[in-house]
Amino acid sequence: MTARILDGKAIAARIRAGLAARTATLSFRPGLRVVRVGEDPASGVYVRNKDKAAKEVGFDSATVHLPESTTEADLLATIAALNADPAVDGILVQLPLPAHIRTEAAIAAVDPAKDVDGFHPLNAGRLAAGQPGLVPCTPRGVMHILAESGATLRGARAVVLGRSQIVGRPMAQLLLGADCTVTIAHSRTRDLPAECRRAEILVAAVGRPEMVRGDWIAPGAVVVDVGINRLPDGKLVGDVAFAEASAVAGAITPVPGGVGPMTIACLLENTLDAALARRGAA
Ligand code: NDP
Repeated sequence: MTARILDGKAIAARIRAGLAARTATLSFRPGLRVVRVGEDPASGVYVRNKDKAAKEVGFDSATVHLPESTTEADLLATIAALNADPAVDGILVQLPLPAHIRTEAAIAAVDPAKDVDGFHPLNAGRLAAGQPGLVPCTPRGVMHILAESGATLRGARAVVLGRSQIVGRPMAQLLLGADCTVTIAHSRTRDLPAECRRAEILVAAVGRPEMVRGDWIAPGAVVVDVGINRLPDGKLVGDVAFAEASAVAGAITPVPGGVGPMTIACLLENTLDAALARRGAA
């Protein structure tokens, strides 16, 4: 069997086109502010890509770039000003922050109604409680990919590899909300291959290059690879050994071009959702 490739790049492009069309009908421009502190080079690339994508769909987007020397109090004051600004619908604090600033303090300072990363404890709690709220972008993107895969989620055995706050946990909650039977596996799980082999839907988010081998996968399973790992030779690979896995799986996402492009598309979706909810149009 050769797995069908789930083309996240194409799905993300369709989502962005839909968002642009929707935004063009609005009487206002959804406002996104990405806050960057310091000079982390990878963050610079991410922030530029987010800003560019937001402008392309017609949002009012800007980056607030603060110096490395910014104190936690100064960052919280900046966030408070954005919370109070009626033109701002979405606020994203780019991680990682410099070591002298507490990440949890910055995340908790964002107005939950503008928390387009979905990291605020109130939004995490809403997701866990099955209530509507802003959902982290990467797991939201995975749900789009699963919808496009045609897989039946109701009653399906889903295994999520990884339990981080930004991917694994919210991913498991979304799958549970879609009526999957969910297992969350992690670094303390006994017999990871056996757990994975039970999965009809397998989402890998561990950050270990090509850890998931072909013989960990059930024939016909839908495999979504969230991992982005750079090898010493510069090549990007996922958490799944793609060639082996695609000989067994029914459908699989590539890296790059799978989940990666969905994350920004879903940030834009979250920003539009936040804008419509805040402005009473949702
Ligand atoms: P974290 O490092 O925060 O979490 C990794 C999780 O994987 C942890 O729960 C950890 O378990 C588990 N884990 C690590 N090693 C093993 C192992 N050997 N066996 C079993 N479980 C293991 O990573 P993130 O969730 O932030 O990211 C995961 C991957 O997804 C990374 O490659 C990251 O680059 C990528 N990513 C991609 C995005 C995209 O847009 N496509 C967005 C965000 C992340 P434990 O909790 O026990 O330590």
